[in-house]
Amino acid sequence: MRFSHALRLGIGAVAIAVAATGCGGGNDAGDQAKEGKLTIGIKFDQPGLSIRDANGSFRGYDVEVAKYVAGRLGVRPEDITFKEAPSAQRETMIMNGEVDFVVGTYSITEGRKEKVDFAGPYFVAGQALLVQMANTDITGVESLTGNRKVCSVKGSTPAQNIKDNYAKDIQLLELDTYSQCVDKLRSGAVEAVTTDDIILAGYAGLAPGELKLVGATFSVEKYGIGLKKGDRDTREKINDAIEQMVIDGSWQRAFESTIGPLGGSTLTPPIIDRY
Ligand code: GLU
Repeated sequence: MRFSHALRLGIGAVAIAVAATGCGGGNDAGDQAKEGKLTIGIKFDQPGLSIRDANGSFRGYDVEVAKYVAGRLGVRPEDITFKEAPSAQRETMIMNGEVDFVVGTYSITEGRKEKVDFAGPYFVAGQALLVQMANTDITGVESLTGNRKVCSVKGSTPAQNIKDNYAKDIQLLELDTYSQCVDKLRSGAVEAVTTDDIILAGYAGLAPGELKLVGATFSVEKYGIGLKKGDRDTREKINDAIEQMVIDGSWQRAFESTIGPLGGSTLTPPIIDRY
């Protein structure tokens, strides 16, 4: 499994304080950036990727990507307002202008592209399973037989994949956030949590010796930056920013300082889809 190194080594997170100021608006992201401020939708509870500390600061890989892109659009970190964008609300929040864009483990899909546009991808993940360390019967998605209880998040691609392809073997519990699912796993109310490997690695890293990822990945999740449909200009600027982030080494550094060292150089930046 791709993130086994990250799991073994734990999650080396770097605290980066981002002041929350400013407010959202109905204009497109380009107009907002011209005014020197942006409202960006992210997750608040995904360790390694995007987590909100008790003091209100944000850190993680998605936060670093968001800050870098904002910077290339001329917006300083202190002029970014981060807003929580739960999986099921991302398209709506973009469409109604609550956020200028979303950097939140957000897979590019054809269905979502009917409502929003995507810059990127900036990362490629894959659906996996998280179980308790002591569990020996769940070894991968093919071992999930006999109506097992599995948790995932409403409006996410992993939940949809289970409903479309594994419904007869799995009893799916859908909650609002992955941290709620992880609580259910810890208490024994469900036997597994399913979503992208990178997200699960973050939770496992927080609970070493308690939770583990199992099996091979069983989907391809290309993370994009979601923005208003039709805003081609901003999409191209964000694409340029992601490319620049890779070229100048910030992309690799952001990953290594947040998700944790992968050991070796298996981390390959994805090719931007300029549609
Ligand atoms: N990448 C998947 C998705 O966009 C799962 C992660 C998430 O829910 O944020 O639905």
